[in-house]
Amino acid sequence: MLFKQLFDKTSCTYTYLLADLDSKEALFIDPVDTNIDDYLTLLKTHDLQLKYSLETHAHADHITASGLLRQATGAKTGIGLSCGAETADYQIEDGSTFTLGNSLTLKSISTPGHTAGSISFLLNDRVFTGDTLFIGGCGRTDFQNGSAGDLYDSVTQKIFTLSGETLIYPGHDYKGNFVSCVYQEKTSNPRLAGKTREEFIEIMDNLNLPTPKLIDKAVPANLYCGIDEEEALQLADANEYTLPNKERRGIQGNINRAKQQIKQVDLATAKQMIQTGDVILLDVREKNEFELGFIENAIHIPRGEVKTSVEDLLSNKKDSSILIYCASGNRSALAGTIMHELGFSNVSSLIGGYIGWKRAS
Ligand code: FE
Repeated sequence: MLFKQLFDKTSCTYTYLLADLDSKEALFIDPVDTNIDDYLTLLKTHDLQLKYSLETHAHADHITASGLLRQATGAKTGIGLSCGAETADYQIEDGSTFTLGNSLTLKSISTPGHTAGSISFLLNDRVFTGDTLFIGGCGRTDFQNGSAGDLYDSVTQKIFTLSGETLIYPGHDYKGNFVSCVYQEKTSNPRLAGKTREEFIEIMDNLNLPTPKLIDKAVPANLYCGIDEEEALQLADANEYTLPNKERRGIQGNINRAKQQIKQVDLATAKQMIQTGDVILLDVREKNEFELGFIENAIHIPRGEVKTSVEDLLSNKKDSSILIYCASGNRSALAGTIMHELGFSNVSSLIGGYIGWKRAS
């Protein structure tokens, strides 16, 4: 077997590559979108055929590369049934199996708690626990239908009942650890070792953790296998991505509703507003898009960070006129609805976005 533990420094995520060396069939667990080039190079270097790209859950802190890997290699994507990611190829349940050649069979174990749809994967002497169990810790349980009681049951009844020698490969590590084993966690994990269910719930209820920065963008994107709504529609229109009609209607419906709710401003009006100087410009595109060019004086907050950052940056501007733009006018309308909910009373969205602006100037 070829086995690689890869680390994403930004989100402290572990991604795993497993391959059967006779058939050259391979799978990824929890790949991160920004590392797609490295993954493709790795597959090429070892002459591997990617068969599956699997998720332990719908992540809140990074976007999966599964959708991109599916496009690039034809691999099938899989995620826990209760995650609600309907565009994934496999809806994983307890006991689902994924085989590579004749030698490797990965078996899923339903381990709800961190999220309702969280899954661990068992392969012979090792278990990939995602955010269900970390080395000396565990994932939080305060969003995405998480439940501390469920997490306790999943760990104590499903992970800790495996042989003590079973290696534990977690979904994250923030302290430089690589691998643990069931015995080590059972006897020394500060949250779980020797703790009753009630004690564990008490600990989890009092963590007071901040909301992950990327949650607004990552969770919705991960439900579409790591491609955000606007991108999914564009790729589907170019026949580069399969978007079932039901999903397409869902995405389009959200965008349309946002556009009805948020005032739509055309280019001429936008220019007038800028000239008179009584408007704050807000660019909600991603960093790489912003760096290639932006409208003068625009403030930049990527859409995924609007919910968590906009109040800090524009705290005393809740009644000011704010004109939001993205690339084409979809993300800006969606971001506008978030700002509306936060109490910004005078937000509008630029029709045609930066692409339209550039074209006209
Ligand atoms: Fe997570």
